[in-house]
Amino acid sequence: MKLFEFEAKGFFKKWGIPVPEGIVADTAEEVKKAYKELGGKVVLKSQVLAGGRGKAGGIKFPKSEDEACAMADEILKMKIKDNPVKKVLVERALDIKKEFYLGIITDPDKGCPLLMFSAEGGVEIEVLAAERPEAIRKVFIDPRYGLMGYQLQYELQKAGLPKELHNGVINMARRLYQVYWDMDGELIEINPLVVTSEGKIIAADAKFNVDNSARPRHPELPKRQAKNIEERAAELGLSYVLLDGNIGIISNGAGLTMAAMDFMREYGSSPANFLDLGGQATQAVTIKNGMKIVFENPNVTALLIYVFAGGPRCDVIASGIIEALDEMEKEKSLRVPIVATLHGRYKEEGMKILSASKSPCLYLEAEVEDAVRKVIELGGQSK
Ligand code: GDP
Ligand code: MN
Repeated sequence: MKLFEFEAKGFFKKWGIPVPEGIVADTAEEVKKAYKELGGKVVLKSQVLAGGRGKAGGIKFPKSEDEACAMADEILKMKIKDNPVKKVLVERALDIKKEFYLGIITDPDKGCPLLMFSAEGGVEIEVLAAERPEAIRKVFIDPRYGLMGYQLQYELQKAGLPKELHNGVINMARRLYQVYWDMDGELIEINPLVVTSEGKIIAADAKFNVDNSARPRHPELPKRQAKNIEERAAELGLSYVLLDGNIGIISNGAGLTMAAMDFMREYGSSPANFLDLGGQATQAVTIKNGMKIVFENPNVTALLIYVFAGGPRCDVIASGIIEALDEMEKEKSLRVPIVATLHGRYKEEGMKILSASKSPCLYLEAEVEDAVRKVIELGGQSK
């Protein structure tokens, strides 16, 4: 998950990294107000999840209230690398003496945090890495011990950073590493890290990507509208992959789900999805969420529910299915036939519960092969 600059700076502030005073605005009118509130002498920064805003004209320095308004209007109509600008960060402008680069990524090869520093900041780091790789100094961080000051000190010296700035930059790097670590970061960057004419070290820009899988651990992260079925499924804690067939599958356990997919191909049809309910399969809400996600795919013409109860019990799962079915019948959101086959603990009790259902959409089969044949017969071949 990528954060906008203003969101990243919010986290920076909380972890004690100095950032310029700023106000986020949605309209030119709000920009005008922010201009006054910050006492003029501001910078307008377009908020998009893409770099290179400076070059694209997304960073502007208005000289008056009216100019701030006009520039904001212009920025809010811009698209930067296909991203429409919806917000502007109005910041008190800095008097920049020198620009550096400071960043941490999770190194894909070593699988540990890698800190990078360059005394030549401001430019895109990819460009610098391609043209003058020796200008980027690297420090691998052992997560057991954290960032070692002496390691970084050595690299700062190699980078040609004036001695009097070493402690300030090391202090900044420690805090940056702490945000990255505490928030499960994948990439965190200050470019440029600025020294002002008064000698203050400030994060002028901020880039922060957080590990998607860690999102449930951090309710303080901003909420984003999920873009597609897979993202919505992930938000519900479901392990779902969209496929190109027409028969939906709900199963429990990755192996069983894949076996169901194999059966389907064996009998000449193809799955519309992979969906493993996992250990939560006993809860009606999980089953219902699963059905909703499967039915979001307009290609689905029939659904196979194939459950093996090793730990949980079939009767409990069956009750969950019934509850979910009843609710969906009430909402009139059930639009395709469902074939269910339950196996494992309390199988008979489970099948009995399902057979008591009055739903005209529900079909039962005792054997998985028959269930697959049935669901293909009901759902037809994909177009
Ligand atoms: P990016 O182009 O998307 O990386 O946006 P940045 O926030 O890094 O800004 C690009 C460049 O604009 C920086 O490298 C600075 O040179 C300049 N800049 C940004 N903020 C200020 C500021 O407050 N004062 C001055 N003088 N320059 C700034
Ligand atoms: Mn930048």
